[in-house]
Amino acid sequence: MQYYSTNNPSTRVSFKEAVFNSMPQDKGLYMPVSIPRLDDKFLNNIDQYTLPEIAFHVAKNILGNDIPDADLKAIVYDAISFLAPVVKLEDNVFVLELWHGPSLAFKDFGARFMSRIMSYFLEKGEKQLDVLVATSGDTGGAVALGFLGVPNTRVTILYPKGKVSDIQEQQLTTNGQNIRALEIDGTFDDCQALVKQAFTDAELNEKFRLTSANSINIARLIPQTFYYFNAYAQLLKQGISKVIFSVPSGNFGNIGAGLLAWKMGLPVEHFIAATNVNDTVPEFLKTGVYQPKPSVATLSNAMDVGNPSNWVRIADLFKADANALTTLITGYSYNDEQTLEAIKFINDNYNYIACPHTAIAWQALRDWQQDNYKADVAGVFLSTAHPCKFPDVYPESIAAKVEVPEQVKELAKKEKQSAALGKDFEGFKEFLLGNE
Ligand SMILES: *Cc1c(COP(=O)(O)O)cnc(C)c1O
Repeated sequence: MQYYSTNNPSTRVSFKEAVFNSMPQDKGLYMPVSIPRLDDKFLNNIDQYTLPEIAFHVAKNILGNDIPDADLKAIVYDAISFLAPVVKLEDNVFVLELWHGPSLAFKDFGARFMSRIMSYFLEKGEKQLDVLVATSGDTGGAVALGFLGVPNTRVTILYPKGKVSDIQEQQLTTNGQNIRALEIDGTFDDCQALVKQAFTDAELNEKFRLTSANSINIARLIPQTFYYFNAYAQLLKQGISKVIFSVPSGNFGNIGAGLLAWKMGLPVEHFIAATNVNDTVPEFLKTGVYQPKPSVATLSNAMDVGNPSNWVRIADLFKADANALTTLITGYSYNDEQTLEAIKFINDNYNYIACPHTAIAWQALRDWQQDNYKADVAGVFLSTAHPCKFPDVYPESIAAKVEVPEQVKELAKKEKQSAALGKDFEGFKEFLLGNE
């Protein structure tokens, strides 16, 4: 499969090039030249397949002959080595739990697949790949664990001092091996600025083979389609064939992957884009005006995005028919108070603890169903992270009930390893050059 840039539809690059470049020079995003429909035989019998089987079938459909079957299968089975269960809360209300991977957030799907794809394409004798990643919390952990132990790669994570939760910091700083963490005395934006500047620094690019692991990489998007198919498969097994998805959205990679799955033939009745007060997309869906704004800090901080980077992909998917976009997707946005109320309602009524991002997706599904309920359509809201990653959000009575998984308790026993740096570029550059 070849890829074009959304800013320049006549460009053509290979999958390998799209993965290593991450973003085209023209600052568009890579999209596959065609999105083949899956065959009906597969779709109609999808309930017979496991998640890794579905993942392989879907990956092959979109990647074509870029990677031989046996190799692709090995990559997919190694990357997607955990489950994504659909749990019923009541009739036509299901939660799709995407946090059963090692970092306890859905970003494991993208990060694990991408790391293995990059490692696969690195040829023998090639220079070590140096992955730089700035994180506000969840991305760093997923990328670190995705690349941990992957040969010929090294990851440098920059995180803002004092601005990530304890568990997130432990996930970033206790890996060792080919992962190193830099605690930057600054904000997430400072971390991101350092990474961006490194990519334009001639000396660093001479010395190192730098690449980024940010969420716009096409190799992070593709594996996120897998769990939409797998969720549908689980519902089909229960005799349910009509489904809507409510997706908690920040950079719009997750829902973008859902739309890609839909393009490949997954029968989805409707998508709901659920955001916090960073409501650029819900506003656009309502008014037709796309007006990016500075991001506002909220309890659902992984969705604090004022100018969602993957939106251009979604616009591109619907460029032939903009009306189809507003017919297929509805947007909802909620403030922190509403988020807390939703967490409380879900706890009181279902005895289930949702992370703040997940709670927003649930609320949007509920509001949609209030006006559009159909007895034969199942509503599925996506749960993007384990609640234990956001301990400060919950009132005491709920926090006490959050179960901390064994792997997280183990992390607390490990020694924190990170280098403390200021937010100036010279110090960062010196560190990179001095620690080859
Ligand atoms: C990254 C993240 C999101 C937002 O996903 P996008 O693909 O950026 O829309 C939502 N919830 C959690 C927990 C996240 O880590």
